[in-house]
Amino acid sequence: MQRFDVVVVGARVAGAATALLLARQGLRVAVVDRARRGDDTNSTHALMRGGTALLQRWGLLDRVVAAGTPAIRQTLFSYPHESSTVSIKPAAGVDALYAPRRTVLDPILVDAATAAGAEVRYGVAVTDLTRDATGRVTGILGRDRAGRVVEMAAGLVVGADGRDSFVARRAGARTERTGAGASACVYGYWSGLPTIGYEWYYRPGGTAGLIPTNDGQACVFAGLPAPRFAAEVRGDLAGLYRRVLKEVTGGADGRLAAEPPRRLRAFPGRPGFSRQAWGPGWALVGDAGYYVDPLSTHGMTDALRDAQLLAWAAAAAHDGEPEGAAYADFQRRRDAITEPMFAIVDQICSYTWDGPGIRRLLLQMSSAMSDEVEAILAADA
Ligand SMILES: Cc1cc2nc3c(=O)[nH]c(=O)nc-3n(C[C@H](O)[C@H](O)[C@H](O)COP(=O)(O)OP(=O)(O)OC[C@H]3O[C@@H](n4cnc5c(N)ncnc54)[C@H](O)[C@@H]3O)c2cc1C
Repeated sequence: MQRFDVVVVGARVAGAATALLLARQGLRVAVVDRARRGDDTNSTHALMRGGTALLQRWGLLDRVVAAGTPAIRQTLFSYPHESSTVSIKPAAGVDALYAPRRTVLDPILVDAATAAGAEVRYGVAVTDLTRDATGRVTGILGRDRAGRVVEMAAGLVVGADGRDSFVARRAGARTERTGAGASACVYGYWSGLPTIGYEWYYRPGGTAGLIPTNDGQACVFAGLPAPRFAAEVRGDLAGLYRRVLKEVTGGADGRLAAEPPRRLRAFPGRPGFSRQAWGPGWALVGDAGYYVDPLSTHGMTDALRDAQLLAWAAAAAHDGEPEGAAYADFQRRRDAITEPMFAIVDQICSYTWDGPGIRRLLLQMSSAMSDEVEAILAADA
């Protein structure tokens, strides 16, 4: 059996970032993931300012830029009877936003974690948590692709294993908040599509986004209430995609007139939730602990932020602060930032707004994101 200070389950945005920060603090860290390195995953890629600023702070934004990820310098908001374009102002150390493909961003984070000394193992599925006589979590049990048992002991097991988190389930993490709304999403990659930057469209019963990403492509999504998706998809994803995009963007001044990409991806929607973030010997980061509707385009920023908050808590515990106090502070900070956003996003993805209503909600979201940036960047502890 191998021993580590921390074992992280999940090697994507939340897990790789957590491993990177903890390894940089000098802890002995292992990361395991049942997937393969560089595997793609569902995402429309848009990073908000908090996530971009953290990548900059960790010295990784240059790598995202070097991978050919286009800089986003403007955002278009289109409402039923008006639209506005907002420039991304330099703030928090960044003067542009980015939407890297996950096949670009996740390996950048994993490589940085490895360079910082973390041991990364793909192809390991975690099947159980180990505990001591007091019930404290003491490590993981898993299996590699050859069927061999993998056993790792750790002072802390971090669940960064996504919204259906096995670690959360096995640790017994309480669900503390559940949303009511859920947006389904159908998206594909368009080549050579000109965009202003991020483009967000809001109409009753539907939304859309144009998001420039790597390889000269733009990710174009059509969003709709989950019940509408279930009622209308009827085996014709492409038809639904075309219909919602036309309804919501009006063809985006002819830019979406071409045949949509043949390969479309769909997410049927799921209400958001927030789980208890830690317990004896375990903690949760990213979607495992707090999952917000993808219409927020904020999940990766949440994941990177949680990694930072947990790293601060681990450093405090390492420096002698009682573990309970340090990790309670991690959850307190996470919840203080996410509670306002959770309520706003839940209303946005419920599609119960009208034109002035969605404008108001987006202004509130913008203000909550500014508070987030202040909270994660103002102090370094
Ligand atoms: C359709 C869609 C569009 C989205 N668009 C955006 C967007 O534009 N912007 C944005 O910021 N966010 C977006 N998101 C949200 C974003 O993708 C997530 O918030 C983010 O991926 C969460 O990262 P994570 O590291 O917490 O979890 P995940 O990315 O889910 O990674 C979890 C990892 O854990 C591994 N794992 C799970 N169980 C085990 C196990 N038992 N053993 C070993 N490994 C395990 C998995 O293999 C996986 O690699 C979108 C989500 C969806 C569904």
